[in-house]
Amino acid sequence: MTVYVLHFSKPYKHARHYIGYTPDASAARRVQEHISGSVKGNPLVKAAIDNGATVTLAHEFPGASREFERWLKDRRDVGSWCHCCGIKSKPLPDPKNIRDRYRERKAAEARRYKTEAA
Ligand SMILES: [Zn+2]
Repeated sequence: MTVYVLHFSKPYKHARHYIGYTPDASAARRVQEHISGSVKGNPLVKAAIDNGATVTLAHEFPGASREFERWLKDRRDVGSWCHCCGIKSKPLPDPKNIRDRYRERKAAEARRYKTEAA
């Protein structure tokens, strides 16, 4: 499994990145699906390409879980560490370093949704 970050050379609306997860050992196959415009690609990536952006595989986190993908998305700070953006005000996130506080908050949210749905 791999979590990967795609960087768009030109923002699409406010989006400059796409964070994805694949069960594969590398992001190569998924990136190909995204950029080939195949139906398996993500609509946001397709829209960015249609809008004239070049899509670059900026980062791969081999062995990273779906939980890490969620954590990265919730941080909303890719622009602070993506090397394609060239800002790098924050260190690269570490899949082994998801905060316990984050895990506890997610577990609490899941319990709350369950209660509301019942
Ligand atoms: Zn970037």
